[in-house]
Amino acid sequence: MSDSKQPTPAVRKAEPFRNEPHTDFSRKENREAFQTALDDIAAQLGGEFPLVIGGKSINTRKTLASINPSRKSQTVGVVASATSDHAEEAIAAANRAWESWRYVEAAIRAEHLEVMAAEIRNRRFELAAWEVYECGKPWAEADGDIAEAIDFCMYYAQQMRELGVPVQCDYPGEENSYSYRSRGVCVVIAPWNFPLAILTGMTVAALVSGNTVIMKPAEQSSVIAAKLMEIARDAGIPPGVLNYLPGVGEEIGPVLVESPDVNMIAFTGSRAVGLAINKQAAETDPRQRGVKRVIAEMGGKNAIIIDEDADLDEAVQAVVGSAFGYSGQKCSACSRAIVLEACYDAFLTRVKAATESLKVGPAEHPATTVGPVIDQEAFDRIRDFIAIGKDECTTVVATDVSELAEEGFFIGPHVFADVDPDSRLAQQEVFGPVLAVIKAEDLDQALELANGTEFALTGGMFSRSPRNLQRAREEFEVGNLYLNRNITGALVQRHPFGGYKFSGIGSKAGGHDYLLQFLIPINISENTLRRGFAPPPDDEKA
Ligand code: NAD
Repeated sequence: MSDSKQPTPAVRKAEPFRNEPHTDFSRKENREAFQTALDDIAAQLGGEFPLVIGGKSINTRKTLASINPSRKSQTVGVVASATSDHAEEAIAAANRAWESWRYVEAAIRAEHLEVMAAEIRNRRFELAAWEVYECGKPWAEADGDIAEAIDFCMYYAQQMRELGVPVQCDYPGEENSYSYRSRGVCVVIAPWNFPLAILTGMTVAALVSGNTVIMKPAEQSSVIAAKLMEIARDAGIPPGVLNYLPGVGEEIGPVLVESPDVNMIAFTGSRAVGLAINKQAAETDPRQRGVKRVIAEMGGKNAIIIDEDADLDEAVQAVVGSAFGYSGQKCSACSRAIVLEACYDAFLTRVKAATESLKVGPAEHPATTVGPVIDQEAFDRIRDFIAIGKDECTTVVATDVSELAEEGFFIGPHVFADVDPDSRLAQQEVFGPVLAVIKAEDLDQALELANGTEFALTGGMFSRSPRNLQRAREEFEVGNLYLNRNITGALVQRHPFGGYKFSGIGSKAGGHDYLLQFLIPINISENTLRRGFAPPPDDEKA
């Protein structure tokens, strides 16, 4: 058989990549080392963190206080708050720096990311400890976030080394070369819920592709972002190539997004802000270099379907873990369980018992599985949803944590059953420890309910029927579908992450085509049948 008749292979293999292992906290030495890191960071709380623009540290008159959600009276750090003038300064610095950074070889830029990864690895427990205090992340969650940040650096470095090599497609008399250029200045606007990983992922993707970056972290996680700035500086990222611009999103966000000197926005956060950014960025100003590129990774209303033959032992554990891990504040969190009638009552009985066994407490405490929610605004919003649940649905679990409420923003896990699929509780993103359980007559209805929101981020199904699992593969409208497992904890390369519909514009973070969004493809064709070359001018001959 000639080569052209070879059958197309059924799968393409991903290139080898090794994810950073998570820390095993069942080992005493790891627990002790982590506790030491927590004690060390406790002694550093309350420090000041200036802006960094063009390599210079700048103090501002207005500041933001970053608070420990487990202990509202404790200030984790006092962070500078940028004004629109600072935003303009940062844009100018990033544009100046782009003039040289864009010409740095891809392999050298990749090396910078590898050095950053090594530095994050060296400071792993210290960084995770900052997250415990600043974002109320329980130990294992904080550790996972740091591991993911390392993965983003290593994976995008690997990807850029490949993309940095031009693809040749030559014909007799004609040379064709396909390669990439950077876009320019990229504004990175990040959420607080994966405080290091998401910020690092968007930032290093932009940097390694030759763009310069203005990093605007979420107000609630600006201290950990200052640590990333430190790491980038220590890794030799030149002044102005990365700028640290904490501030109030509603104030400086629009200044950054609308500037004619910004070329790209990489955003992760809520649907409302993502759509507003997309709209603002679409407006063109005669001074700008071209149409702005927007990546916006937004919210979800993720469901797990429990089929009638599902293994309930596994399903219940996965639903509870996915719904209440980090207090339901993961974009991938399960907020709806859609359960087939045949196993509905049995599922509810077991979910109730499993949820009631969760340990709610301060994130610093090693036994805590459910910590606080991020801030007062989240606390009030989630409480409003709980009031709706109590009013409109059957309350299955309403964990009372009033004894902790004085100290921090604690809300215990809640489970509501018989939820109307069209109600606010079933349609809007709660982003807290609240699970809505919905009954479905059959799989047709379950899939219809699962797809019946404006989001398409993550979803899952527990079933023992290969036919039904196949239907989920084909019909479940989500960017990340998980079968017979939990729906959180996406790993770089293994589970490239991101949604569609109103959950996202862009390709998947940690996936093989992510970097392409930060690059401009260029094809150069040269007729090589020309007669010789003109000699170089005299001044170049020497
Ligand atoms: P948010 O939208 O409130 O804030 C995100 C960022 O946008 C912050 O840095 C904030 O300061 C900034 N911002 C606020 N207003 C702005 C404006 N007008 N212009 C520009 N920037 C502005 O979101 P959050 O509360 O930080 O994060 C939670 C949300 O993020 C949830 O909806 C969650 O689902 C989503 N999320 C999605 C993913 C994903 O990959 N799809 C990942 C993590 C979080």
